[in-house]
Amino acid sequence: MQTSILTKYREARLPWYTIYTTVPDFSTTVGAEDYEEWLRGLPAGDSVSLYVHIPFCRSMCWYCGFPTTITRRDGPVLNCLTVLREEIRLVSEQAPQALPVSDVHFGGGTPTLIGPAEFLDLMVLLRRRFAFSKATAVAVEIDPRAFTAEMAETLGVAGVNRASLGVQSFDPKVQKAINRVQSEAQTAAAVENLRGHGISRINFDLIFGLPKQTVQSCVQTAMAAVAMRPNRVAVFGYAHIPSVIRISA
Ligand code: SF4
Repeated sequence: MQTSILTKYREARLPWYTIYTTVPDFSTTVGAEDYEEWLRGLPAGDSVSLYVHIPFCRSMCWYCGFPTTITRRDGPVLNCLTVLREEIRLVSEQAPQALPVSDVHFGGGTPTLIGPAEFLDLMVLLRRRFAFSKATAVAVEIDPRAFTAEMAETLGVAGVNRASLGVQSFDPKVQKAINRVQSEAQTAAAVENLRGHGISRINFDLIFGLPKQTVQSCVQTAMAAVAMRPNRVAVFGYAHIPSVIRISA
């Protein structure tokens, strides 16, 4: 990164975007007809990016600002997948021919809560409804605490080629304070499993400014992260906005 950009923005509290329009800007003033019209108006031949949101997690991280619901059961996830498949059908039918896809991103929530069979089915459906190419990037956000070797194999078979691992901090005190206890060994095992199944483009998400965090613990986390050789490390500033947190179950 250029030093001038760092200097300009290092003190700023900037939002980051995983999807556009961002969630706080969703409103009922935009309905299905607007959405259909926008989809039908896409220039022919232009490629699109698909974002698939899986709004479920097994437990709540206290810093979380993402739309998610805590569930211990698989039923709500399966119901969501039924609706998602219908949404994929509806969106794809707005274009006269299969839209070319440059990127697919599975975010959440915890996308890997989807079982292996369901994930494979979803990818088959997406490939049938949209035009994938060899260059299509398929990325999945991973929670290493609940990531199995079977799921890593599934992602490899499904053609996933990028993974983004939520790490935040390796400091046990910080992890306890944010309700996200995740050992270095769990993160390292997830990385090894992903690489073992051909998913070599790996990103780590870290956060600074968390409760109980010190400069020294940030440095130690960064060094532990770098030792696992991720291709990219994304570092976010913690924003304390309890009004945004959504705890629903
Ligand atoms: S930070 Fe990620 S894993 Fe934690 S509750 Fe939020 S969406 Fe779920």
